[in-house]
Amino acid sequence: MTLSTTRGALKYEGKAKRVYESGQPDLYIVEYKDDATAFNGVKKAQIMGKGAINNAITSAIYPQLEQAGIPTHFLAQLSDTEQLVRAVTIVPVEVIVRNVAAGSFSKRLDVAEGTALAVPVVEYSYKSDALGDPMINTDTAVALGWADYEELSHIRELALKVRGFLTPFFAARGVRLIDFKLEFGKLENGHIILADEISPDTCRFWDAETGDKLDKDRFRRDLGGVEDAYAEMLKRVVLSTE
Ligand code: UDP
Repeated sequence: MTLSTTRGALKYEGKAKRVYESGQPDLYIVEYKDDATAFNGVKKAQIMGKGAINNAITSAIYPQLEQAGIPTHFLAQLSDTEQLVRAVTIVPVEVIVRNVAAGSFSKRLDVAEGTALAVPVVEYSYKSDALGDPMINTDTAVALGWADYEELSHIRELALKVRGFLTPFFAARGVRLIDFKLEFGKLENGHIILADEISPDTCRFWDAETGDKLDKDRFRRDLGGVEDAYAEMLKRVVLSTE
């Protein structure tokens, strides 16, 4: 396969990434930005170096997920902030997997953050900035034509497989994986593959020894040390796989 590295027209701009055409219809170029948002875009800032760090972390992890039998959109890292990916249509359902109670789960159910969950919890929300990603169930997604039951059951299976890979992967690097968000996409042939990113923007990472937060909660909650936390995660993921 020839790698196309020339950015074409901007297809889509999200909060943390831009997606460009690549010159080949089945490939896109994703660019990771330093922009950070929280609380549905109400809080905005730049986290210096975030784009390059999230690109490097995702580029290190996705090939390993492929090796573990999880199909992904990732093809190659093109530059500090760019990746070549398979073109997909994103399924507008965000999939959240939880090992430990935190964030909106803790608030909604009044369960202390840090409470271990007896089984992993998979939750779904509708990917809509305008609505603030409201929580849905699988019936909602089928009723509104976003996916069918078979696709959703496959998505759940893949999400748990990702958890099965990531939880020990991070544990081996001194990090407790609390929860994470995944997005899936559909290829032209209908196959569902993992898209988006896996990074401190989309996961909660707690240092296994100290409990320190090494993720976007440092930004959301004004804890300081945001750049240092992202750099620490880069070090643990990328430098320890080289
Ligand atoms: N998450 C995300 N994007 C979203 C919502 C959540 O990447 O739009 C991630 C978040 O970083 C965390 C997990 O999904 O790792 C669970 O988030 P939660 O539902 O607790 O929401 P939050 O407390 O972040 O609003």
